[in-house]
Amino acid sequence: MYTCAHCAIKACYNNTKDKMPTNCPMRNMEDYEGIPEMYHEEENLRMFQHSAQIEHDGYCQWNRVYETIEFIKRMGYQHIGIAFCVGLQREAAIFDKLLRAHDIKTSSLICKNGGFDKNAFGIPDESKLKGCGYEAACNPIAQARLLEKAGTDFNVVIGLCVGHDTLFFANTRTPFTVLLVKDRVTGHNPAAALYGSEGYFRNKFGLPPKK
Ligand code: SF4
Repeated sequence: MYTCAHCAIKACYNNTKDKMPTNCPMRNMEDYEGIPEMYHEEENLRMFQHSAQIEHDGYCQWNRVYETIEFIKRMGYQHIGIAFCVGLQREAAIFDKLLRAHDIKTSSLICKNGGFDKNAFGIPDESKLKGCGYEAACNPIAQARLLEKAGTDFNVVIGLCVGHDTLFFANTRTPFTVLLVKDRVTGHNPAAALYGSEGYFRNKFGLPPKK
């Protein structure tokens, strides 16, 4: 079991390997065998080096949207897929326009494409938000499949629901990044919920009030 989330030593980060915790993964360096070599595979190396350079060039200056555009340009991607949620169509359109302003070709595909009713995938009427009648199902597998057919060489995910995004990730063979994650309560900023979980919003996580 790894517990990096609670490590105060961070021997990896601080280069103090003589102080690593007893359950530090670095105590079993054989687990890292072959991994450095993977970074030297051509495409992995290009991705890794451009990521590091962007981190350096825009550190605390460039926002994530701009970093994403820079990554796309530096990697030389020609055709970008945008897999977005119907609830974030406006955000997808703004991002699409920004890419086009940089002369980058785009294909954008909404989550509801295909127009299947939720009933088709075993969701009963009582589990629909509207309660009954047609309610379009999200279709992340089709988003992955159709963007592949469109020939995108890199995809950007905007606001797919938790779980639907998992289906997209599990069914795409195209490299991708996530620009926005959906959080209907925090303005798509799940970090706010984490910060609040130790204070006033503990009850939102089924936890007793702080004493
Ligand atoms: S020192 Fe070891 S346990 Fe601590 S954060 Fe680094 S890898 Fe994880």
